[in-house]
Amino acid sequence: MSTIAAISTPNAAGGIAVIRISGDNAIDVAQRIFTPFGGKNVETMEGYTCAYGIAHSGGERIDDCILTVFRSPHSYTGEDIAEISCHGGLFVSKKILRAALKNGAVIAEAGEFTKRAYLNGKIDLTQAESVMDIIAAKSETELKMAENLREGAVYKAAQKCSARLIKLLGGLAAWTDYPDEDIPEVEPNALSAELSEIAGDLSALIADYDRGRIIRNGVATAIVGRPNVGKSTLFNCLSGCRRSIVTDIAGTTRDVVEETVVLGDIALRLSDTAGIRETDDVIEGIGVEIAWKTVEAAELVIAVFDGSCPLTADDLELINKIKNKKCIAVVNKSDEETVIDEAVLKDSFIHLVYISAKENTGISELESAVNDIFEMNPDSFSMTTVSNERQKLCIEKALGAVREAINAINFGEMLDAVNVLLDEAEQSLLELTGEKITDAVVDEVFSRFCVGK
Ligand code: GDP
Ligand code: MG
Repeated sequence: MSTIAAISTPNAAGGIAVIRISGDNAIDVAQRIFTPFGGKNVETMEGYTCAYGIAHSGGERIDDCILTVFRSPHSYTGEDIAEISCHGGLFVSKKILRAALKNGAVIAEAGEFTKRAYLNGKIDLTQAESVMDIIAAKSETELKMAENLREGAVYKAAQKCSARLIKLLGGLAAWTDYPDEDIPEVEPNALSAELSEIAGDLSALIADYDRGRIIRNGVATAIVGRPNVGKSTLFNCLSGCRRSIVTDIAGTTRDVVEETVVLGDIALRLSDTAGIRETDDVIEGIGVEIAWKTVEAAELVIAVFDGSCPLTADDLELINKIKNKKCIAVVNKSDEETVIDEAVLKDSFIHLVYISAKENTGISELESAVNDIFEMNPDSFSMTTVSNERQKLCIEKALGAVREAINAINFGEMLDAVNVLLDEAEQSLLELTGEKITDAVVDEVFSRFCVGK
C-alpha cells in the first residue's frame, strides 16, 4: 500500500499541529524531511520513540519539531507511522505536509488512517465507526457509549451470536449432507430454544438504539411561554452566556434563537421563542407563528410560567396546546412570592419545576426532569448498543432471519429452509463487523470521517 500523509490536527491555528505519515515508506519519508539534533538516525529509531530536530524541505529549514516513530504492527494503522509535531500554525504545518508529499507520500483521504487500521485487521468496522463517535461525543454518556463500541463491545456480542450460528449451521449441514452417517438428529425444540436465545441477544444490541440516537443527536427543545415570563433569561442561563436579548418590554424576542446545551446526560438543542400571546403587531405575530411551529417540531417543550403572577388566558391556551407533548412546566421567578395557581399546573403537568432563571436556582431540578423524561439514568440502559443506521440495519436483518427460522421450525418446515435463513443471519453479522462487506459500503463508512483520522 502507498504511504499516506495528512495533517491530523484541526484546520486551524493552535498550540501544536501533527502531520501524520503512514505506510511502508513512512520512516523513509520522515528521514528525508526531518533531521534530529545530535545526529540520531531516523531510519533506525525504534517504535514509541521520539526525536527533537528540524523539519526541512529542499535544504530550507521549516520549523523545530518532534518526530514520533511507531513501528508496524504496533501503531494505529498497523503500519510504520511517523508523526511530526510542529508549531500549530496552518502555514507551517501545510509546508511540512507538502515536504512529505514531495518526498514519497501521497495525500491521505478522509478516514484513511482508520480505514487502514480496519483493513490491516487492527479493528473491526464497528470499532472504526466508533472513532468518529468519540470525536463527535458531546456528553458523558455519549462518550461512554462510543468508548464501549471502540473497545469492541458490539463486535464481541456479534461474534458470540455468530459463533453460535456457525455451530448450528455446521450441525445442520452435517445432518442433511450425510443422512446415512450416524450423526445425531437435529432436535427441533432444542434448535428453536437456542435460536430464541440468539434472537434475545441480538434484540439487546438494538434495544437502546433510540435512546442512543437521542444522546448523539440531542433533543429538539422549545422554550415557550407568554412574554416576560423569563424564557430568554432561562435560555441564557442554560447556555451560559447572554445570547438572547432580555428586557422587561414584552415582545422583545421576535425570532427563534438556538443553542445546544448539555443538561443532565443529554444535549438539548434549545430554541428560545417569541412570547406567545394574542397580538396585533404584524412582526410580533410572525414571531408567535414561528414559535408555534417550533413547539410543534420540538421533541421536548419547556413551558415557562411567571410564578409571581396568576395564570393568564395566554398561559391557559399554551397549557392546552402542549398537553400531548413531552413537557416540563417551569415556574420561574421563584425569588419572588409565588402567587401562580399551582393546582392548575400540578393537574396539567407531570413534571413541574420551580426556578429562578435570574438567580440561577432550580436548574438541577430541571436537569433531573430532563433525565427522567428520557430515562437517561446511565445505569438503567445498555451501553452496548449499535451507534448508527448501518449497524442497526445489519442486526435487524440478522434478527429477522433468526425469527423467521424459529417460525419455520415451529411450523415443521424442512431443515433446509432453516439452514438458508441461518446462513442469511450469519452473513448480516459478517456485514456488521465488516468481515464480509462490499468495497462500496466500506468507502461510504470512511467517507464520513475527517481527513487525518
Ligand atoms: P421572555 O420575554 O420570556 O424572554 O422574558 P425575559 O427573559 O426577557 O425576562 C423578562 C423580565 O423578567 C426581565 O426583566 C427579567 O430580568 C425578568 N426575569 C427573568 N427571570 C427572572 C427571575 O427568575 N426572577 C425575577 N425576579 N425576574 C426575572
Ligand atoms: Mg425573550
